[in-house]
Amino acid sequence: MLALSCELIAGGYVGDVDVEGGIETKLDHFQLAQDRIPRAIPRRPLWPGFAINTIFCAAILWLLFATPGFIRRRRRIKRGLCPACAYPIGASETCTECGKPVHTDPTHLTSVTRPDRNPIADS
Ligand SMILES: [Zn+2]
Repeated sequence: MLALSCELIAGGYVGDVDVEGGIETKLDHFQLAQDRIPRAIPRRPLWPGFAINTIFCAAILWLLFATPGFIRRRRRIKRGLCPACAYPIGASETCTECGKPVHTDPTHLTSVTRPDRNPIADS
């Protein structure tokens, strides 16, 4: 979505074009008929587009940074480890290593860590 703008203002004589609300670059100019139009970097925000682009980019960055932690915590919970420090969970409702509250619900445990299964008898 368009987020920034600038204006090109024609002067009083042929070839006189000025940039307002932008930064004129030293790159080659556009040639349009007899006018040499400067290339410019816009710096005036267009608020709906600027806000929507900011929120969209922030959401993408948040997903990039939050996803690895979310996957790591879910994997630790599935393996019967503390989601914060990966220390094995015992019968306590708080982690004995870091003191964070942990889920002791048996539905969160996998067959490897479920206490009611005997791996020797299952094989
Ligand atoms: Zn812990």
